[in-house]
Amino acid sequence: MAAEIIDGKQVAEQIRRELAQEIADFKARSGITPGLCTVLVGENPASVSYVTAKGRACEELGMRSIHHALPAETSEANLLKLIDELNRNPEVHGILVQLPLPDQMDESKVLFAIDANKDVDGFHPVNVGRLMIGEEIFPPCTPAGIQELILRSGTPTEGAEIVVVGRSNIVGKPIAVMLLQKKPGANATVTVCHTKTRDIAAHTRRAEILIVAAGRAKAITADMVRPGATVIDVGVNRVGITSSGKPKLVGDVDFDAVKEVAGKITPVPGGVGPMTITMLMKNTLKAAKLAVDGRC
Ligand code: NAP
Repeated sequence: MAAEIIDGKQVAEQIRRELAQEIADFKARSGITPGLCTVLVGENPASVSYVTAKGRACEELGMRSIHHALPAETSEANLLKLIDELNRNPEVHGILVQLPLPDQMDESKVLFAIDANKDVDGFHPVNVGRLMIGEEIFPPCTPAGIQELILRSGTPTEGAEIVVVGRSNIVGKPIAVMLLQKKPGANATVTVCHTKTRDIAAHTRRAEILIVAAGRAKAITADMVRPGATVIDVGVNRVGITSSGKPKLVGDVDFDAVKEVAGKITPVPGGVGPMTITMLMKNTLKAAKLAVDGRC
């Protein structure tokens, strides 16, 4: 029997409806409109479309969207100056610097300059540390979206064997840490695989929940999946152009074959992707609550 498809678009819409109400309540109570400032350096087309989508999502939910576009040749000092201004601007509750940055900039230095209480991406070392000890304020958006998808798909995590393929700082490592915490929606036994893992299939075949963030099309084939497993495909790989001239996207999982083995599976597009921006909106509201109430 083919797997149940976990519809990330539908789950994201549901969360956005819940958020819109929370934002309206917060505005009515505090008189403050939560504000997200996006900063884009250069004109990378994918980055332009990401920041445009983030700004649009903010406005649709009744939050303020501020955007700074800087030329690709901007100096690191100029970007740091802007971040310092945004850190001190009370109308800006969340700051997001779109990655990747041009070569002349030190990405870590830029991200570390953002006030940790406005770091809605959750990349500042203070927030990474909070995540590690289970006291996160701003969980990174993609891992937060993955956890929410698992929860809302009704897949139990407690005691479950979870295998994560990929160990990046933005997806693999944080989702592994989040699912390991002694908390509801976590409490799993987590294994993390990467390119130096000796026998990846031996691990993935054990997984009751398999999360794949490798950035390699078809890295996971049907024979690597445990029958009935929940499969979360984070990958986004461009593999050509569609008939309408848009990039054709596929995940890291051989979807057509794996859906015949898995119990539940996320598609690409329409799985994890729509959740990421939604979690950013959630973090922006949290940042505004933190600024106004001192807690969130
Ligand atoms: P990344 O920084 O390139 O990391 C990829 C990780 O996967 C690395 O740890 C790498 O191992 C591992 N890996 C690569 N090929 C592998 C293989 N064949 N077997 C086992 N492990 C392998 O990528 P990322 O930023 O985490 O992103 C991963 C994918 O998710 C990309 O396709 C990206 O576009 C997508 N993504 C989607 C969203 C979304 O919102 N939908 C958000 C973020 C990322 P090593 O460490 O050994 O090199």
